[in-house]
Amino acid sequence: MIREAMYYDCLDDHVVRCRLCPTGCRLTPDRRGVCRNRYNDDGRLMTDNFGETVTFAFDPIEKKPLYHFHPGAVIASIGASGCNLSCQNCQNWEISQRPAQTMYIDPEQLPQAAARNHSIGVAYTYTEPIIWYEFILEAAPPVKAAGLVNVMVTNGYINPDPLEKLLPLIDAFNVDLKGMNPEFYRHICKGKLEPVLETIRMISASAAHLELTALVIPGLNDSEADFETLAEFVASLDAAIPVHLSAYHPNYRMRVAATPVETLQKGYTILRRLLHNVFVGNREIAGCSDSYCSACGAVLIGRSGYSIRLKGIDEGGRCRACGAATGIILTR
Ligand code: SF4
Repeated sequence: MIREAMYYDCLDDHVVRCRLCPTGCRLTPDRRGVCRNRYNDDGRLMTDNFGETVTFAFDPIEKKPLYHFHPGAVIASIGASGCNLSCQNCQNWEISQRPAQTMYIDPEQLPQAAARNHSIGVAYTYTEPIIWYEFILEAAPPVKAAGLVNVMVTNGYINPDPLEKLLPLIDAFNVDLKGMNPEFYRHICKGKLEPVLETIRMISASAAHLELTALVIPGLNDSEADFETLAEFVASLDAAIPVHLSAYHPNYRMRVAATPVETLQKGYTILRRLLHNVFVGNREIAGCSDSYCSACGAVLIGRSGYSIRLKGIDEGGRCRACGAATGIILTR
């Protein structure tokens, strides 16, 4: 469905500049932005992906990944086609970097559709929800009003003003922090690092739950210095923010070999020096996907793939061994 886009400036000669994300596309009539969803229609910026989803599935919340937000829950998951970054290693390139088949979902009907299968709400995921901005702004309030939650799995590549407007509507974010080196963002993702860091700072200072995912690519973002810089940045915000170190596999335009287990183990060890909640994803390493009490070290949640055991945490979200608050949000 077509809607007029938000956040753009009209320039001379029917040219528009989009202000939704830091790419800042300047579009002459009939041209599309990098995300392929916003285009200049005779001097107006339009979006034609409103409500158009590539799929509607029910996923474990652990798949997002979110480990400390309603562990063990199921969440309805939808996503638009397209992305505002162009990562060489994109894991979902068939739907993010190419046009994909979509179906329309009405925002008013979303809560009812999402509440099936004991789902706790809606995750805007799979591709980049920022480029679905107008739809999420309209879909999220009825979801919230129905007592459900809104989750965004995002690259964080958005400008501060539109993010500010979105924050009160979203209960939890997982932000992809693809590397701590600006050159990595420039060459591999065709974007900039600093706006992503600013997004993370803003979410961390908000009421929303925040987790981060860092995809570890051999030779590109897996040095000790890379892991140390990541740990220091997260610790400067809140050492309890969960960080998922995810194994990379060759995909799309990148042919670098898959991440060795030893590299993930090294990253895990370095991050754990400063951070309380670090998890290895996409590869199983014993003990590296469990949640531990930051006060006494007891296992709070044991994990194997997407299955979990809530063994060390009581109904109030406290450690059964020492009674410390864990910060884990449970489904009641
Ligand atoms: S949202 Fe799309 S059109 Fe707007 S600046 Fe970003 S990539 Fe360009």
